[in-house]
Amino acid sequence: MALIVQKYGGTSVGSVERIHAVAEKVKSWHDRGHQVVVVVSAMSGETNRLIGLAKEVNPDPSPREMDVLLSTGEQVTIALLAMALHRLGVDARSYTGGQVHIRTDSAHSKARIMDIDGTRVRADLDAGRVVVVAGFQGVDESGAITTLGRGGSDTTAVAMAAALKADECQIYTDVDGVYTTDPRVEPKARRLDRITFEEMLEMASSGSKVLQIRSVEFAGKYNVPLRVLSSFEEGEGTLITLEEEENVEQAKISGIAFSRDEAKLTIRGVPDHPGVAYQILGPIGEANIEVDMIVQNIGKDGTTDFTFTVHRNELNRALEILRKTADELGAREVEADDKIVKIALVGVGMRSHAGIASTMFKALADERINIQMISTSEIKVSVIVEEKYLELAVRTLHEAFHLDQAA
Ligand code: ADP
Ligand code: ASP
Ligand code: MG
Repeated sequence: MALIVQKYGGTSVGSVERIHAVAEKVKSWHDRGHQVVVVVSAMSGETNRLIGLAKEVNPDPSPREMDVLLSTGEQVTIALLAMALHRLGVDARSYTGGQVHIRTDSAHSKARIMDIDGTRVRADLDAGRVVVVAGFQGVDESGAITTLGRGGSDTTAVAMAAALKADECQIYTDVDGVYTTDPRVEPKARRLDRITFEEMLEMASSGSKVLQIRSVEFAGKYNVPLRVLSSFEEGEGTLITLEEEENVEQAKISGIAFSRDEAKLTIRGVPDHPGVAYQILGPIGEANIEVDMIVQNIGKDGTTDFTFTVHRNELNRALEILRKTADELGAREVEADDKIVKIALVGVGMRSHAGIASTMFKALADERINIQMISTSEIKVSVIVEEKYLELAVRTLHEAFHLDQAA
């Protein structure tokens, strides 16, 4: 008998039929004698619908009230799933995040889980019940409802699994595992049997939304066995593992991630003196805007150009700040571009293989795709290219690194 935490995403609970199908699946695990905690997302489209409603009422809604609103999506699905389980004769109870003491900080819309008191859940499990928990939400110290950021139900599931010391955390979704790249963009993408936490973290932080970044961080930190599987078909899915597999020839590259959420800002003709990077990025950081890639060009005639990327949602805010800085520094001009994407190659094999970046650059050059920015880390090479090249670039790189074939 094992303790299993299962998470079903929005598409998997997107209709009454699918909720029934999830209930059947949960029942089959419960019938085999396992203790099951189920974390669910809102029905697909629901969170976006609620965001739209809020914006109609007030274009600048209070973060606190926004979280009160958004958390309702998950409250609907926990109740419906519990009812569906009851119909199958399974004893089940649903709980909101607050009810099972998922305590977070107070950063509305991107709260972090601080701790979970598993006493109540354990008592239910010991009484033979299935426990259904609302994903994506918690409460802060003052009792205010918080949400964990888009895709946050993954993190609820992993955090529950860590708190309960579960034997496995299973993320059921609309694909049957983690692929070499998003199968919606490259149909030749191949499902991976295994991927390391480290690689998955880089994939997630580079835009691969199959798992929320924080869920992978959490799973790595607390060593939670994590598996991504299909809620529609049987299969082993993809196991996220701690270790690189021994005795298996390691692929150089595990996958390609991409993000359409990027925007690029350039400030031209800035006086080239010590401290200029700080003068430009300091105010951006103070406004809590995260900066991703940064490029400072070599100075000429005493001035330099400086380019960096931010999340597309924060472009307008960043632009306003940068314009002010430009005035103060006497810079020549400021430019913004949100028609860009970031594409990242990820693989632990990069540590032991040279020439990955040059193969990447050549493949893109052969397709006449211009690279605007580059950044590298130990197991990742990322580039910024024009948005219209996204599909072509991903497919070209998939082909260049033979990712459709097993290593
Ligand atoms: P859920 O609603 O179940 O949380 P998501 O939409 O958040 O599902 O995540 C699943 C989606 O992630 C897939 O439909 C797929 O398009 C996308 N995806 C992006 N990159 C990958 C990848 N490398 N492997 C598998 N799926 C990926
Ligand atoms: N419902 C939330 C979202 O759409 C959380 C989740 O699905 O994981 O982002
Ligand atoms: Mg998701």
